[in-house]
Amino acid sequence: MSGCYALIVAAGSGQRFGGELPKQYSPLGGGTVLEASIGAFLAHPKIDGVRCVISKDDADIYHKSISHIYEHSLLSPVFGGETRQQSVLSGLESFVEENPDKILIHDAARPFVSAELIENIISSLEKSPGAIPTLAVVDTIKSCSDGLVDKTVPRDSLFRAQTPQGFRFKEIITAHRELIKESMTDDASILEKSGLTVAMVAGSEQNFKITTQDDYDRAKGYLNMLGGGFETRTGFGYDVHRLVDKNDDEGGIRLCGVDIPFNRTLLGHSDADVGLHALTDAIFGAIGEGDIGEHFPPTDSRWKGLDSEVFVARALELVGEKGAKINNIDITLVCETPKIGPHRNHMRARIASMLNIDKSRISVKATTTEGLGATGRGEGIAAQAVVTLSLPV
Ligand code: MG
Repeated sequence: MSGCYALIVAAGSGQRFGGELPKQYSPLGGGTVLEASIGAFLAHPKIDGVRCVISKDDADIYHKSISHIYEHSLLSPVFGGETRQQSVLSGLESFVEENPDKILIHDAARPFVSAELIENIISSLEKSPGAIPTLAVVDTIKSCSDGLVDKTVPRDSLFRAQTPQGFRFKEIITAHRELIKESMTDDASILEKSGLTVAMVAGSEQNFKITTQDDYDRAKGYLNMLGGGFETRTGFGYDVHRLVDKNDDEGGIRLCGVDIPFNRTLLGHSDADVGLHALTDAIFGAIGEGDIGEHFPPTDSRWKGLDSEVFVARALELVGEKGAKINNIDITLVCETPKIGPHRNHMRARIASMLNIDKSRISVKATTTEGLGATGRGEGIAAQAVVTLSLPV
């Protein structure tokens, strides 16, 4: 038993919202409400995995609405039930195999949950089986019936509950199983009913829930204030591999994933695809994740002769884990021969399929150095790559 997982509850139909799409799938900034909520947990170093509970009818919308997230970085979603409680229980049951130590249950419609709040909830679980974010009630509270005020309710001991609500996994799943027939509006109530303590953690007004169209407008306004919810990052990559003579039948090189017939070959530990190496380094650079040599040390025999697409896939996986999305790529290959022009479109298509983005976002150019320097003398081929990507703020 170990680890801390997040369960994002996205199974609601949002009757009070009344939009074309349920609120969790509505656009927000460069992505969707759900992506923003998921992104907060995916990016948190203390969260080991994230899973959504969705409605069976929404499977298609779900996949479309997380298009900026590398899907493998998420656990596959599970289907919810008729009530919120049934949905949460299906979500909890899906973690039985992982058997986590702690679980955080979060409303998909609270896209502005902060890393600090997630951290505070997790650390409260060291002392208490449950912990929830709370906010003081600032308005005066009235008890009313038949259109008339009966009395004013003292508000000193009243608080508003938010999510993520954190629990020790064993306790919350046991309580949910026992009390599945009860109707409660949050998960902490389930734990309270079982007589277990729930600690208070300071919530945040910014962590509001999108319930109505007014809330949705507020969310969009708040995001505009933050600069659209994404920041643009740029990464640069550079690589050179040595060219050597070979017999005709041993020649040929691979550039940007495309095999090119050539009477010479590139030397390298892997397949020596200098274009994909520059690209991989540019992606690592844009997300501040070191370089290719750090992730795939040349001293490791596992990478010998390896297809460099594997390097690109690893970089893309990290991009996905950060909830980031690649905007565009520009690669320049530097060599006198072979001619790159005839292969350019094929290279763009290969990279587009590796990165799962449109070919129009990828450029491959080539230049010579007019016979000057190492590339000019044909001693090697060099490649430069620039990548821009959008990273959630
Ligand atoms: Mg290299």
